[in-house]
Amino acid sequence: MIEHYRVYRKHGVWLNSPRMQKYHDRISQESFLHAHSIDAAQEAFYKACKTAKANRDDGASYPHKKKFYRTTIWKNTGIRKRGNHLLLALARGNEPIAFRLPSSLSVLEGKQFLEVRLAYNKNHRKYEWHLVIETGIEPRISTGTNVAGVDLGEIHPAAITDGQQSIIISCRELRSLNQYRNKRLAELKSLQATKKKQSRRWWIIQRRINRFLAKNKAQRRDLEHKISRAVVDWCILHQVGTLVIGDVCDVADGKRLNRKSRQKVSNWSHGQIRKYIAYKAEAEGIVVNDEVNEAYTSQTCVYCGRKRKPKGRIYSCECGQTYHRDIGGAANILSRFCYGELSKVDAPYPFFFRPHSKVSQSVALRSLYGTE
Ligand SMILES: [Zn+2]
Repeated sequence: MIEHYRVYRKHGVWLNSPRMQKYHDRISQESFLHAHSIDAAQEAFYKACKTAKANRDDGASYPHKKKFYRTTIWKNTGIRKRGNHLLLALARGNEPIAFRLPSSLSVLEGKQFLEVRLAYNKNHRKYEWHLVIETGIEPRISTGTNVAGVDLGEIHPAAITDGQQSIIISCRELRSLNQYRNKRLAELKSLQATKKKQSRRWWIIQRRINRFLAKNKAQRRDLEHKISRAVVDWCILHQVGTLVIGDVCDVADGKRLNRKSRQKVSNWSHGQIRKYIAYKAEAEGIVVNDEVNEAYTSQTCVYCGRKRKPKGRIYSCECGQTYHRDIGGAANILSRFCYGELSKVDAPYPFFFRPHSKVSQSVALRSLYGTE
C-alpha cells in the first residue's frame, strides 16, 4: 500500500495490479516471503481498493494509518507435507516454516491442503493457522422434490414453510448478543474518551474493546451456524429439493429503512446467515434460489391478497384469517417463486425451534422431532 501510494504521489500514476507486480519485481531486492504469498497480498490490496470504492457511500473508510500486521497467505504451490508436518515455503534461500498438524489432519495428503493463512486472533491475542482443505467429499444428491421458502427476519432469524408445514427458528440469545454488543461498546468507548488518545490507559481500553468484539463475534457466529443448520435440517426432513430465500435488499417490504433499523438489520447479520444456509444446503444437494424479490411479502395477506402493515408478529386480516407474520412472508416468497404472484401458498401454524449456545444442536433437534 505504501509503495503504491508513493508511486502515485511522486509520479501521478495509479498502478494497476499487473503493473504493480512488475514494478515490485524490479525494485525489490531481497524478499523473505514466497513469491506467491507476495502476489496474494497484492491481489488482496487491489480487491480491498475495489471494495472500499464500491462501499464509499455507505461509510467505508480508507486506511489512514500504518498497518503492522496483515494475514499472510500461502497458496498450494508453497505448501508441502512431510510426515505429520506442514512445510510452508519462503523466498529462495530461506528454510521453510514447519508446523505440526493435529492428528485429525495429519492423515490427509499434501495436495489436499489448498491454502494456509497466518492470521491474528484478537480474542486470544495469538497467531493461528487457518487451513483451506479439499476434503474430497462430494455434495450429496438430494432426493427431495418439495420447494420451501425462507423469510429471514429481524425478530426471528428464519421462518420456513413449504405450504404444508412450517417452522420458526427463534433466537433471543442472538438478539441479546447484538444489543449487548452495542451497549457495551458504547460504555467502553465513553470510558476510553476520558483518557488521552494513544496513551497507555487508552490502549488498555482499546485492547479490551478488541477482545470484547472478537468474543461477541464468535458467540454470534456459533448461533448463526446453529440457526442455518436447523434450517437445512428441516429441509432435509421435509424432502426439500429447492430452497427459496428472499432477496435481502428489500428487508423492509420494498422501502428503504431509516438509519436506526438499517443498523438493526445489519447487526442481524442476514448476510452471514444467508451464506451459511446456502453452503450448508448446497452440500446436501439442495438447490438454493435467492433471486426472489421480497417486496410486500410480509404485508400481503396469504389468503386474500389484501395489503396492510401488521403490528407485532401475528397477522390478522379482514378476511378472518390469522397467521404468523414471518411464516406469511416465507409463504409469499414461495408463492412468488412458484406462481409469479403472491397469496397462492398457505401459511401453516409453525413449530418453534430455539437454538442456544449452551445446548448441543443435535440434542435440541432430537427433542424437536422426537427422533433418535
Ligand atoms: Zn386476508
